[in-house]
Amino acid sequence: MACINFPSPVFGPIHSRRLGTSLGINLLPEGGKVCSFDCLYCECGFNKDNRDNTKLPSREKVREVLEKKLIKLKEEGITPDVFTFAGNGEPTSHPQFEEIIEDTRILRDKYFLNAKISVLSNSTFIHKPSVFRALQRVDNNILKLDTVNPDFIKCVDRPNAGFDLKRILEDLKKFNGNLIIQTMFLKVKKDGKVIDNTTDEFVTPWLEEVKKINPREVMIYTIARETPDKDLEKISKGKMDEIGEKVEKAGLKCNVSY
Ligand code: SF4
Repeated sequence: MACINFPSPVFGPIHSRRLGTSLGINLLPEGGKVCSFDCLYCECGFNKDNRDNTKLPSREKVREVLEKKLIKLKEEGITPDVFTFAGNGEPTSHPQFEEIIEDTRILRDKYFLNAKISVLSNSTFIHKPSVFRALQRVDNNILKLDTVNPDFIKCVDRPNAGFDLKRILEDLKKFNGNLIIQTMFLKVKKDGKVIDNTTDEFVTPWLEEVKKINPREVMIYTIARETPDKDLEKISKGKMDEIGEKVEKAGLKCNVSY
């Protein structure tokens, strides 16, 4: 199985390990990934791969295609549990993200009132007031924090220049608990060394910061699909459960996916 690019601006519904029957909304071009991170584990491959000249979908295009899709789902008797902003990169980087969230809320209320709206984000644009406002208007504001170790972030998440972990940690607290933290656990073999963010050296300071952020839930997961870097190792169920128990012991709800 190879890394995938998702259709844009709407794909699915697909079954999501964490969210159920999920209708995907991809605000990135369909011809390759565009992200402020370039994670070794990204199921869409690396930023440099598969790029073509396709552009970001406009707000109008997203609204039009989404409405047509919702009408079709109604006709087919398919009910999505969730509309999920995800796909080929970072959804909150779209310049009209806030307006698109508002359009999606209106369409959700019109066609599938009980569906949730989720955003899977890497947290790098939450300092922007429009993104911060929009994320407070969705049901599941799911923000990435894989670790608080700068070397691991540099090696595994590979952010663009300008990444500021300290600022992100402060901004995550500003949601006052109205967020879900998502964390990928894995092992990486690089230059003969193994880096593993499941050890106490990583988990203890990560959990300390997560407690300060005080999210309503923590989602921890490990590799489940093809990754562009082949030197990555999935974490065992036992180890994932152990970390999940630590999170619960700290008084936070934890959802563990393998
Ligand atoms: S943040 Fe998400 S979309 Fe971006 S590179 Fe990482 S896994 Fe891929």
